[in-house]
Amino acid sequence: MTLLASLPPVRGKYLENAPLGDMTWLRVGGPAEVLFLPADEADLARFLAETPDGIPVHILGAGSNTLVRDGGVPGVVIRLTAPFGKAEAIGDNRLKAGAAALDKKVAQTAAKAGIAGLEFFTGVPGAIGGAIRMNAGCYGTETKDVLVEAVALDRSGRRMIIKPDELGYAYRHSDAPGDWIFVEATFEGTSDDPAAIQQRMDDITARREATQPIREKTSGSTFKNPDPPGTPDQRKAWKLIDQTGWRGKRIGGARFSEQHANFLINDGTATAADLEAVGEGARADIKSATGIDLHWEVRRVGVEKAK
Ligand SMILES: Cc1cc2nc3c(=O)[nH]c(=O)nc-3n(C[C@H](O)[C@H](O)[C@H](O)COP(=O)(O)OP(=O)(O)OC[C@H]3O[C@@H](n4cnc5c(N)ncnc54)[C@H](O)[C@@H]3O)c2cc1C
Repeated sequence: MTLLASLPPVRGKYLENAPLGDMTWLRVGGPAEVLFLPADEADLARFLAETPDGIPVHILGAGSNTLVRDGGVPGVVIRLTAPFGKAEAIGDNRLKAGAAALDKKVAQTAAKAGIAGLEFFTGVPGAIGGAIRMNAGCYGTETKDVLVEAVALDRSGRRMIIKPDELGYAYRHSDAPGDWIFVEATFEGTSDDPAAIQQRMDDITARREATQPIREKTSGSTFKNPDPPGTPDQRKAWKLIDQTGWRGKRIGGARFSEQHANFLINDGTATAADLEAVGEGARADIKSATGIDLHWEVRRVGVEKAK
């Protein structure tokens, strides 16, 4: 029996053997056994409630922090659709956004409404669901600082309203159970002049363009820094990669960026295996040279290709 035959009827779409590479920034990897595009939250809740527990379910956001392995992803991959992509100011310096709304759209909506504090989202190329899970942030602000509450569905389709202090937030980390799917969030900032907010967003964009390979096939920071921001003499992943000679060193079409040594780059010909081999090669050399065990910030999903 195919996987599709064991899935419940839905109003959205199922696609079998659906390529995932183009849904990620790294542009590599195999297909989803089944890709599910829910019509709306009720459709997603029904799917979760009626899909047998033994079937693996993975949620993919904008794919800016995900490496899909070459053998693809067994089970169902969910990608939220347009009805989950709205963002609107709701008064009192608050803004409500669907989990598929791009972080940049949330920053722009906040700026137009004169809500300050969400400018950092303009520098993170993901969507809101990924930001809540990863505690995305940059230049001193993180998602946890502006999140009022998030709405999530658990694996049984139960709807929950979650406060940030229930999410065990730390640097680029939440304790949110792996099977929760965020569908919506409310953020709060402070009042300011829209033009001043826009200027700060433009500054963030200019700073990123100058320091990061944001037009390449990359997934941003590959490893978490060993120490969180604010630690005196903070140890940085990019420095360790640099010091062990991995900046620019190639395996197939993969390498760490010459511009920012913690960014993995696909030159257009890399496989997921090439990218992972560069990352693991650097990790092993850093461990033997310094004793530091770097942890992947990039989420690796799926299985290797059978040889
Ligand atoms: C050029 C570049 C620059 C970057 N700069 C930064 C930066 O400055 N700061 C930073 O923090 N990150 C940065 N990143 C990494 C990335 O943009 C963030 O981690 C982002 O929050 C990931 O969001 P996404 O929607 O792309 O998630 P995905 O890559 O699709 O998924 C990431 C994780 O979130 C989970 N997830 C996605 N959606 C949901 C949902 N609705 N509910 C539950 N879980 C979900 C996935 O299952 C996965 O575990 C950068 C990436 C790139 C490519």
